Amino acid sequence: MDSDIQLLLHLQEIDQEISRIEKRLKEIPEEIERLKKEKEDLVFRFEKVHTDLKRLEALKREKELDIQTYEDRIQKIQESLDRVRTNEEYKALLREKAQAEEMIMEIEDEILAIMEDIENLKKEEEELKAVIEKEKEKYDQLIREKEEEMASLKARLEELRAEREEFIKQIRPPLLSKYELIRKKRGTALAVVDSDTCTGCFLIIPPKIYSSLVKGQQLLTCPHCGRFLLYQSK
Ligand SMILES: [Zn+2]
Repeated sequence: MDSDIQLLLHLQEIDQEISRIEKRLKEIPEEIERLKKEKEDLVFRFEKVHTDLKRLEALKREKELDIQTYEDRIQKIQESLDRVRTNEEYKALLREKAQAEEMIMEIEDEILAIMEDIENLKKEEEELKAVIEKEKEKYDQLIREKEEEMASLKARLEELRAEREEFIKQIRPPLLSKYELIRKKRGTALAVVDSDTCTGCFLIIPPKIYSSLVKGQQLLTCPHCGRFLLYQSK
């Protein structure tokens, strides 16, 4: 009986390692996806700043051309002013000139605001440029590490599955079936007894069963959760 429980204990150790690895193998791809997303966001942020900058610079050039157009108009008005005959015409031209000057001032204000935005974006672009290569490398490195971890876990899992297949040959089929059944139901099929408590369900084991356990005469299960009980004398 002692060897039965020892066999089951070892089987449980194998199974628990298999479960841990399987769980981890499910987590890693999600972690890799998250890292890839973060890296993409970083690149995207840089590209967005870059395109915003280009767009603002184009806008600034456009506004400067608008100013040029108004200045040309003022120049023409100036020339016309020398040639006008009537007072009405003169006044009309002056109004037009004042309007053009006002427009220029407005556009100049707009250009100033654009220049401020450009300056801020340039600063941001510089800052991002300084970190982006390093950050990208960092992400690539982390992704590589996760992929390596996954590869080595997959190899270990295969090893364990082969080991398990070989190992269960030593266990009597009915015992193995019972083990599998409890494991399916409870997650683990074997629980250590601590004082008089089953550490699988944390309920107290009846004294009769407990004393049999201590004597180590037979393979016993917890009357509450059904797990095989492992008594370790201290
Ligand atoms: Zn129990």
